Amino acid sequence: MFNLVIFGPPGSGKGTQSENIIAKYGFKHLSTGDLLRAEKNSGSELGKKIKDIIDAGNLVPNELVQEMVKNNVVKNRDAKGFIFDGFPRTTDQAAWLDQMLSEIGESVTMMLALDVNDDELRVRIMERGKVSGRADDQNIDIVNNRIAVYKQQTQPVIDFYAKQNKYVSVEGVGTLDEVFGRISKAIDSAL
Ligand code: AMP
Repeated sequence: MFNLVIFGPPGSGKGTQSENIIAKYGFKHLSTGDLLRAEKNSGSELGKKIKDIIDAGNLVPNELVQEMVKNNVVKNRDAKGFIFDGFPRTTDQAAWLDQMLSEIGESVTMMLALDVNDDELRVRIMERGKVSGRADDQNIDIVNNRIAVYKQQTQPVIDFYAKQNKYVSVEGVGTLDEVFGRISKAIDSAL
């Protein structure tokens, strides 16, 4: 299996480029943001608990996200590969993912990080907010909080994979096709 961690700050294009990767390589998309938003919008008890955390741009507790990831992986054991999008977001989550995958005889193949500067991120997220309907995309203070949370809690995950020689970074600014061309090249080199 090809287990790809697509990585980068909020607004770096992980979701959009995941769609291109799925179309070309047929991997299964596992976006924790999408799963958590679906839970939030379902109105379940769990959804109510996590609503305020997500809307403020803070991280939902590890155990909860990890359970969702595990259920999804187990349910799709026949997949050619996975794209982990929005996960892992902390080094604890990264260590947990290694452990969980090793239990089923798998491992992370590559961590592909999209490199985009902060000013561009803010513009992209606020633009997306006009159509996404996401509360966390529409308020500049929350957008800035998400970028800060990324820097404090998520960026260290780069080192985690760099130490395993699995970290690849691509320039995330350019046309969608240009960025996807760089991503394809990186994936092809590891296939
Ligand atoms: P995203 O769509 O990846 O930007 O995620 C939206 C929001 O969902 C984040 O701001 C967090 O509140 C929550 N979230 C998504 N993935 C995770 C994760 N791996 N750990 C904790 N919270 C997460």
